[in-house]
Amino acid sequence: AVQITDLHKSFGSVEVLRGIDLTVAPGEVVCIIGPSGSGKSTLLRCVNLLETPTSGSVVVEGREMTDPDCEIDEARRSVGMVFQSFNLFSHLSVLDNLTIAQRRVLGRDRAEAERVARANLDRVGLGERGSAQPSQLSGGQQQRVAIARALSMDPSVMLFDEPTSALDPELVGDVLDVMRGLARDGMTMLVVTHEIQFAREVADRVLFIDGGLVVELGPPADVIGNPREPRTREFLARVL
Ligand code: ATP
Ligand code: MG
Repeated sequence: AVQITDLHKSFGSVEVLRGIDLTVAPGEVVCIIGPSGSGKSTLLRCVNLLETPTSGSVVVEGREMTDPDCEIDEARRSVGMVFQSFNLFSHLSVLDNLTIAQRRVLGRDRAEAERVARANLDRVGLGERGSAQPSQLSGGQQQRVAIARALSMDPSVMLFDEPTSALDPELVGDVLDVMRGLARDGMTMLVVTHEIQFAREVADRVLFIDGGLVVELGPPADVIGNPREPRTREFLARVL
């Protein structure tokens, strides 16, 4: 569902991604781990063209995002993204947060948008909270709303950039449970996370990135359980 080929990204003279190759199969979950500044967020942001790659290609569902002729707004709709900060519209109810883009971007009518929104709120365990304001919810609930909002656009791929890093520890579990459910339902996911235990349990493959290069990529039992590269071992020793 996602093919990344020889992806490079520089900011000025600094080369942050130095040739990344990664293919994510439909329904596959790939967790990305690596030190701060290694290029994890930049990699995710290149997948939906929040950053423009310097060279290389990104293909999502057969559509080359990096092709200059690609209708980027349309292509981006197939990619949902959830950030560390939830970025909900604070002046809108939870339900309206989920319906606004469906109506404005996908052209769904109110009834259809609300039906989709309620189904996705149920999916993240917040079916009763549609009329709440975001400020009335805990951080973990707000992040689950952000996930439901992304799902409401019917993405074929979901990108998560440290979705639990801003949460109080006791709220992390509920968000990870929602992500586990998505994985089980067959969602294609690219997840940047510091939750090594989650990566070990949920990922089909783990990618360890350092200095803008893929150092190690494989099943969690290998990359986390029995890493081959010294740099992977050092990193895991620091975070585990
Ligand atoms: P963290 O774990 O801290 O989130 P990361 O692996 O996500 O780190 P990136 O945010 O991808 O790292 O950043 C990689 C490098 O690129 C860093 O050195 C960062 O300073 C640099 N960088 C990222 N975005 C920009 C930008 N817009 N302009 C200039 N440099 C940038
Ligand atoms: Mg980052």
